[in-house]
Amino acid sequence: MSRISNHLPTAELQALDAAHHMHPFTAGAQLAEKGARVITRAKGVFLTDSEGHEILDAMAGLWCVNIGYGREEMAGAAAAQIRELSYYNTFFQTTHVPAIALAAKIAELAPGDLNHVFFAGSGSEANDTNIRLVRHYWARKGQPERRVILSRWNGYHGSSMGSGSLGGMKPIHAQGGMPIPEIYHIGQPDWWSEGGEMSPEDFGLKRARELEAKIKEIGPERVAAFIGEPVQGAGGVIIPPPTYWPEIQRICDEYGILLIADEVITGFGRTGQWFGSQTMGIRPHIMTVAKGLSSGYAPIGGSIICDEVAEVIAGDEFNHGYTYSGHPLAAALALENLRIMEEERVVDHVRNTANPYLAVKWAQLTDHPMVGEAKLCGLMGSIALTPDKSRRAAFAAGEGKVGYLTRERCFANNLVMRHVGDRMIIAPPLVITTAEIDLLIDRAWTSLDEAMAQAKAEGLWQAA
Ligand SMILES: *Cc1c(COP(=O)(O)O)cnc(C)c1O
Repeated sequence: MSRISNHLPTAELQALDAAHHMHPFTAGAQLAEKGARVITRAKGVFLTDSEGHEILDAMAGLWCVNIGYGREEMAGAAAAQIRELSYYNTFFQTTHVPAIALAAKIAELAPGDLNHVFFAGSGSEANDTNIRLVRHYWARKGQPERRVILSRWNGYHGSSMGSGSLGGMKPIHAQGGMPIPEIYHIGQPDWWSEGGEMSPEDFGLKRARELEAKIKEIGPERVAAFIGEPVQGAGGVIIPPPTYWPEIQRICDEYGILLIADEVITGFGRTGQWFGSQTMGIRPHIMTVAKGLSSGYAPIGGSIICDEVAEVIAGDEFNHGYTYSGHPLAAALALENLRIMEEERVVDHVRNTANPYLAVKWAQLTDHPMVGEAKLCGLMGSIALTPDKSRRAAFAAGEGKVGYLTRERCFANNLVMRHVGDRMIIAPPLVITTAEIDLLIDRAWTSLDEAMAQAKAEGLWQAA
């Protein structure tokens, strides 16, 4: 099978894919019938499929390709690292230059005293590390009963046993015996869907105070940590009201529990600062990173840990690690990615150019009859689809039907935009230009027009 190449006819590739390749988060039988779209090349913000279509990728892959696809410098860095040291581990008292240099670079970029990095192969692995790390921390501090980790419904922290349990996605919990014990969830700060008659500000406070109520219910002496994404990504790009994070920070401080910011999406420039914690004004003890750390050129993740927690953990052997923790190739690519980010001032580009330009056009989407609200933080955005904006109404047809058909219209119009229920979301490469933003908005308008016509034709245009 080593002879399979881009030059095979699409139908043949699709048949082999259906026969042998099980896709993540996919209904396999349904996809096999339809045939997966085969992506053959990518450059900048554009993908090319096996039929030669040029697709604008407004999701940067899975929120990760921040510097854009196909960069020559990255190819050079990979080749050089493989020639020099293709693999070695960091167990058993050895180390290597890419892991040292990357850990030092991350410590320099991260705020406050987040000075220590434990590497993993992905965001899920890093959050599994965090579960064991915070419990082990409290055990070493003489408080072994502090084992509970609190999180939010509809948060996303990965899909392994541990990280999927931290997340609050019910379809994930429904399969495979999750959540694991001693993880509890509180409500999410999604004002559009759940805020009712309250103002966004009051609703933000209400949802944050659920943390305090939960801590009291469980007993503060049993709570180890709270984890949250500064801006929820996979849950639908839920940007919390401004009152939310300051209140969460106050509660964590008051009860002395560890705060973990899952920065897998928001880290490395996505929100217009290096980290989403800076944008939201929070001071986490631990940050989870992955995705944008290497712009998706290699699988790598990690936990960035503050001085005090790292010192306590360092006191004896932490019986934990991955064969590929700090993998030299992945670390070298992450370093080259961060070098490019700094040299090209990508974070400034997001904050001063791309975000302000997109913000105006994104907000104008609310002129479309199907779009209720349009939210944007840095370069992560969402729009809420609704048949009746005055009531923030959901569709009677059931959640996600209209979102799905809108996603299909986007894809047909060579735009990758994802749907989460009936929210449409974007997180384009951070290097996107203003001309490419114009194209994104053009294709989005066309797709929304078509989706609304289709929803009406199929009898889906009714409010719940
Ligand atoms: C994607 C994601 C993860 C999981 O990362 P993987 O590399 O897919 O394991 C964790 N947290 C957040 C916020 C994510 O968006």
